[in-house]
Amino acid sequence: MTQYVIHPLLNGRCLIAGHHAFYNGDEKESYPYALYLWLILGGERPMLVDTGLDNVEEMNQGAAHVLREPITQQPGERGVEQLARFGVRPEDVGKIAITHLHFDHVDCLDQFPNATIYVSGRGLEKATANNWHGSWAPGKTLELLTRTAKDRVVAADDVEVAPGIRTMWVGGHSPCSQAVLVDTKAGRVCLTGDTVSLNLNIERNQAVGVCHSEEECYAGMEKIRGAADIILGSHDPAHAGAYPNGLGA
Ligand SMILES: [Zn+2]
Repeated sequence: MTQYVIHPLLNGRCLIAGHHAFYNGDEKESYPYALYLWLILGGERPMLVDTGLDNVEEMNQGAAHVLREPITQQPGERGVEQLARFGVRPEDVGKIAITHLHFDHVDCLDQFPNATIYVSGRGLEKATANNWHGSWAPGKTLELLTRTAKDRVVAADDVEVAPGIRTMWVGGHSPCSQAVLVDTKAGRVCLTGDTVSLNLNIERNQAVGVCHSEEECYAGMEKIRGAADIILGSHDPAHAGAYPNGLGA
């Protein structure tokens, strides 16, 4: 049985208002968010969950309405720089599971020329409906997924990415949100893809404020609770530096 080790790679930080962090949250509150990509080692080749953000300026403009304080990225926090610390080159990455098609999760998707890409099938279908008009997904990402890298894309729901790693459609935060479940020595870990952004979303059972469907968010959280031993909120700052040797080492 393959047991994986997960490395949360810090990709930036920002501050979010309470009503964006939590559905019906308090606008006067502020919550620190961290951005990550996730490196999974232990398989045949390195794998990623999400790819992180390079164009911080574009993200800060596009997401200005939900950012109380803009995203900052320190030297060394770009995805390729973080991977280099593990001796992983972009061309070495064999598989990438995309939790959802928001800019901070897919901006760097074009930097991994050899990876098979796993994206929610029903999510991609919705994201590309109406000739992409009004889509929440970046045009360059849709271009890649449906044209230039089409032969490397697995657009389906609830699939095995590798033995011991699978996707689980949850929706909620966005129609394309899928969680990724990874078996490790520490237990089955869930990378939640923003349907749980802070671990407090799970602890308080309060949906995220940036939410496409409140009902799906609650159903998604229930699914996640039932499937995982360890739940890692996708923007929770607590993971940064918490696992010096990786989770599951
Ligand atoms: Zn998102």
